Amino acid sequence: TPAPSQTAASAPPRPLANPTIFIPVNRTPEMQEERLKLPILAEEQAIMEAVSENPIVIVCGETGSGKTTQVPQFLYEAGYSSEDSIIGVTEPRRVAAVAMSQRVAKEMNVSQRVVSYQIRYEGNMTEETRIKFMTDGVLLKEIQKDFLLLKYRVVIIDEAHERSVYTDILLGLLSRIVALRAKRHLPLKLLIMSATLRVEDFTQNQRLFTTPPPVIKVESRQFPVTVHFNKQTPLDDYSGECFRKVCKIHRMLPAGGILVFLTGQAEVHAFCRRLRKAFPTRGSRPQEKEEEKDSAEAMRKFKKSRTRARKAQAVALPQINLDNYSVLPVGEGDEDREAEMDEEEIVGSDLDLDLGDSEADGGEQPDVSLPLHVLPLYSLLAPEKQAQVFKPPPKGIRLCVVATNVAETSLTIPGIKYVVDCGKVKRRHYDRVTGVSSFRVTWVSQASADQRAGRAGRTEPGHCYRLYSSAVFGDFEQFPPPEITRRPVEDLILQMKALNIEKVINFPFPTPPSMEALIAAEDLLIALGALQAPPKEERMKQLQVSQLSCPITALGRTMATFPVAPRYAKMLALSWQHDCLPYTIAIVAAITVRELFEELDRPAASDEELTVLKGRRARVAQMKRTWAGQGASLKLGDLMVLLGAVGACEYAGCSPQFCQANGLRYKAMLEIRRLRGQLTTAVNAVCPEVGLFLDPKMQPPTESQVTYLRQIMAAGLGDHLARKVQSEELLDEKWRNAYKTPLLDDPVFIHPSSVLFRELPDFVVYQEIIETTKMYMKGVSAVEVQWIPTLLPSYCQFDGPLEEPAPTYCPETGRVLCYRTSVFYRVGWPLPAVQV
Ligand code: ADP
Ligand code: MG
Repeated sequence: TPAPSQTAASAPPRPLANPTIFIPVNRTPEMQEERLKLPILAEEQAIMEAVSENPIVIVCGETGSGKTTQVPQFLYEAGYSSEDSIIGVTEPRRVAAVAMSQRVAKEMNVSQRVVSYQIRYEGNMTEETRIKFMTDGVLLKEIQKDFLLLKYRVVIIDEAHERSVYTDILLGLLSRIVALRAKRHLPLKLLIMSATLRVEDFTQNQRLFTTPPPVIKVESRQFPVTVHFNKQTPLDDYSGECFRKVCKIHRMLPAGGILVFLTGQAEVHAFCRRLRKAFPTRGSRPQEKEEEKDSAEAMRKFKKSRTRARKAQAVALPQINLDNYSVLPVGEGDEDREAEMDEEEIVGSDLDLDLGDSEADGGEQPDVSLPLHVLPLYSLLAPEKQAQVFKPPPKGIRLCVVATNVAETSLTIPGIKYVVDCGKVKRRHYDRVTGVSSFRVTWVSQASADQRAGRAGRTEPGHCYRLYSSAVFGDFEQFPPPEITRRPVEDLILQMKALNIEKVINFPFPTPPSMEALIAAEDLLIALGALQAPPKEERMKQLQVSQLSCPITALGRTMATFPVAPRYAKMLALSWQHDCLPYTIAIVAAITVRELFEELDRPAASDEELTVLKGRRARVAQMKRTWAGQGASLKLGDLMVLLGAVGACEYAGCSPQFCQANGLRYKAMLEIRRLRGQLTTAVNAVCPEVGLFLDPKMQPPTESQVTYLRQIMAAGLGDHLARKVQSEELLDEKWRNAYKTPLLDDPVFIHPSSVLFRELPDFVVYQEIIETTKMYMKGVSAVEVQWIPTLLPSYCQFDGPLEEPAPTYCPETGRVLCYRTSVFYRVGWPLPAVQV
């Protein structure tokens, strides 16, 4: 149980900041006056009393009430920081960490040597630092190095209402750290700040906080906001609809700033260009050029932190080295979702994706009599440019800020009277089958839409224009569910194991994933070699008492650094060798998109259509064979087809015509290209030394690279191995050409659409099993039996040394014997009895 702070029983072993001290802050009178207007100032006393009496305190208050800027100052003035124990504040977004550290330094009239920030690639910490703003990822990394967080006297988890997975895990960890620190008489204060009153998951959760922490509510001073719904919801072009709405407001409505919510950086830029063209001000052109230059500069800076490609050494023997992953250079991990999205868009623009900018040049006549002060706001925007939005616009000119989701709760822009909300947000989406994450534009939640509307009523009554109907709004989810409940957990479990939390089942999640999800996650991680497999009996015992406690392996640690599902993380970790990364990335991207090929199996309405369909099916089958190739390449099977299709399509410029002619779905191919960009960025973030650049037109892999790729895919799909039932063990006809898998009793078959349908290799790995008339494996790739003990050791059991040199199928025992360094293993799952 968390002990009360500062017990007098024994003297602390080390001097701590003394909260009874008052540190005077030399604010300017203007700043002091501005602060006094903030609602949170009225609660200073209450907050500080709660903090002094409780180890953990929750502060709830509307966006803009002053939580982020003021609470750290309250704590500072009350003496909660000293040379060696400071105040730490986590933000889910980089942009907030940087902007807020600047703002607080300015309010306190001190330099950034005292109020500093730390984000993934940069920071301005000094030995004078007393308040440190950082991303949640940075604090997680620090916990890995110093579990007790001894550097901190106070930790503030800001924006906890977002319920990002990192925030949730940080809270779970901090609940334990606070207790441990109390035991050591080095008390740590934890403040949780939320923009909504929905904090039951923190207060009503006995495992997280044994005594419910006090909740301090900050009264909001909101002016009424009139919400206007669209009669109809635009289907595609919400950006165009936003544009028309802004023009109307600007032309017809009284003075007051406009805030537009869009979803991404490229969209924001295009929108700004269009607005500036329609309502030019003096100097808007050069400003725009400069902004674009800056965003290119930001990207260059990002890229500079990676050095050029290190050529993997060529090895004659095509055998992937399973130990090689440990030499993978691993950079600092700090996930900033927003920044990732922005980077991904820039990668996209290198590939000349259509950024929806085309209509910007036609249409509206510039209206010089109605200038508009247009400013963009998104995560990767240079800090000086971000600061622009807080400055008053030129006299007599209306301000219009075009923002991504950062303006929803992280940053509050003064003087906004009109909000234009497209209703969309770019969110990370997790594919349930592959676990690969990608970014998708989806509807926001009702809570988010209301937050956005609230931005219009900060200084006077305002208006919010929603570009969707009230019926559509009624269908929005009420609150975004905690991220942890809508994603697979294998990767989280892996992350936690990397933090040396072995018994994940005991972890105090604010909202825990289900037991089945946890067990499935551990089983998969064991199969992949990311966790040490306990002996079978031991495992059974563990499951009985719900004790999952397998330690992480070296491979697991490497895998933990990739932001993809463990299966694919393993593939990526192994692909560092022999320049296989671009291919693996392409395959993983293609797998994620799933249906590359058009649906041609549909029933035809007429004979004519049937002829056309038949022709197209034949064409697709032929192309698949071409892409699969011969020999080694054919053995990579359907995964080779994916690679071939992606490569061929890119060579043809990814044109709709090419896709149409070859039965590929054009949208899917564009999506793959986008995902390849994202994955390339992700790999670069993990290992900057690799310096991977996305070349859409990759060269086909060499024959030995194909062999490596087969091994890489087999290693990653390790829990999806199937063995051909040999003719001598046939029980009955239903097992003809069938395969046996560890988990299913029924025979499974290679899907007729697979290029390996007629090949029938002895061992295969598959992407997924679908059930139609039979159980069919899709996405099949052949595995050599001698690879199994090395690549998929969890299927093997030690079977005593034997002299035979080659792995063989043994009909007497019904087992496959695999040979490695004079030791036999057997592929350990039951097979149908042998017919003698
Ligand atoms: P909260 O965290 O509760 O959402 P903040 O502490 O971020 O609120 O903001 C409090 C006030 O400070 C807001 O009115 C906001 O407009 C103002 N503010 C924040 N950053 C700046 C800045 N860089 N320049 C001017 N005003 C700012
Ligand atoms: Mg805030």
